[in-house]
Amino acid sequence: MNVETPSEFGIDTLRVEFRSAETELAFQRHHLDRSRLSLRLTLFFCSAFYVAFAMTDVVALGYGHVALMLFVGRTLVAITAILGWFLIREQPEPIAGLWFVASAAEVVGMATFMLIVWFRPHEITLHAMSLCIMLIVVYVFIPNRLIIAQGIAIATTAAFILIALDKGNLTPSDALTMSMLLLLANSFGLVAARRYHRLWRDEYRVLMDLKHLSVRDHLTGCYNRRHLHDTLLPMEIARARRYKHWLTFVVCDIDHFKSINDAYGHQTGDAVLQHISTVLRAMTRDHVDSVVRYGGEEFLLVLSQTDLDGALYVAERLRATIADSPTHDGPSRGIATTASFGVLAVDFSVAGSDVTEGALIAAADALLYEAKAAGRNSIRYREWSDESAVRDVDSFPQMTFDLVASDR
Ligand code: GH3
Ligand code: MG
Ligand code: MG
Repeated sequence: MNVETPSEFGIDTLRVEFRSAETELAFQRHHLDRSRLSLRLTLFFCSAFYVAFAMTDVVALGYGHVALMLFVGRTLVAITAILGWFLIREQPEPIAGLWFVASAAEVVGMATFMLIVWFRPHEITLHAMSLCIMLIVVYVFIPNRLIIAQGIAIATTAAFILIALDKGNLTPSDALTMSMLLLLANSFGLVAARRYHRLWRDEYRVLMDLKHLSVRDHLTGCYNRRHLHDTLLPMEIARARRYKHWLTFVVCDIDHFKSINDAYGHQTGDAVLQHISTVLRAMTRDHVDSVVRYGGEEFLLVLSQTDLDGALYVAERLRATIADSPTHDGPSRGIATTASFGVLAVDFSVAGSDVTEGALIAAADALLYEAKAAGRNSIRYREWSDESAVRDVDSFPQMTFDLVASDR
């Protein structure tokens, strides 16, 4: 559930991919629709041109078995493209499928082209021009991993030069000019490809940065309230309902926080908030639980697939850790703090479909205020039942801890 932090966005200069495999995969997923569309368009146009160019074989070689063989090769490119077209629709793992289709089309296309060059060596300079265009298509237009595209382009260029030297009947100066031209096409293709691979990743990083900023509270790094109401709560409740899971809400409020501000100043108050939020985030599960800054010094923890026992275990560990770990505001000064907790566990296999987000948060908040009334540094909890809005909270089991005197 956590959004990636900016440090995960480093780009490997050789591969021009994110160094973190997880971030690269997320980027590829984000980019999938665009990649699919450009692969489809490129495959369509390339195979149409490939088949249409069969007429040049007939003009050069006449109607014969070589022209027929080349036509079969050209048709094979189109068939690979069409099969690939369907494959990227059906693939369970779409990104690997996309790369496979792109690579297969590139390999079959280039291999067929080598056959054409082999059987029509007299037009080698025209073939060199075609290859330059094909290299640009491989580098820039067919969405593939740069490292694969680069391998295919360089291998094809080497094979082409060997065939041209062997069968092209070229003067040394023509051979050199042609090789330089191909080197130029490879260099410009590679530079262009590196640029757009980097640009797309930069664009993704900026997008993720913006997303990070829009869903997080800037002081503590916890999710903000807007994200809670817009996305988190509806999503978690819908998921718990669908899979009939438990979902637990833990409201945590720092005790006597105002007096910390009054005694030590607002900045120290901020440091305490950061310390507590770090404890809350460190002791809950990454990508599963969510920590939200719900108000000034009040946090809401949404614990997925967690029943009351599991949530109480977490809440008690949090309470004890907060009470035992003062915020260090300078080399020797430790500011002791405690927090109170309200824990509301909802079993969505029995909860009615009309349970509202507002009712759940209000019920968790009510438990928090009981914990405050019970002397703070304590936990009050219960399971949600549909009549719980009107049920007397004293009829539920309760757990409290003594207030630990702070040194303030
Ligand atoms: P209780 O134990 O009943 O929760 O008492 P409390 O003092 O913690 O609660 P109260 O609601 O009276 O005070 C909360 C204080 O939190 C008041 C407000 O100035 C402070 N506060 C809210 N947001 C921030 C913030 O971002 N930074 C700092 N330093 N203080 C904040
Ligand atoms: Mg408070
Ligand atoms: Mg409060």
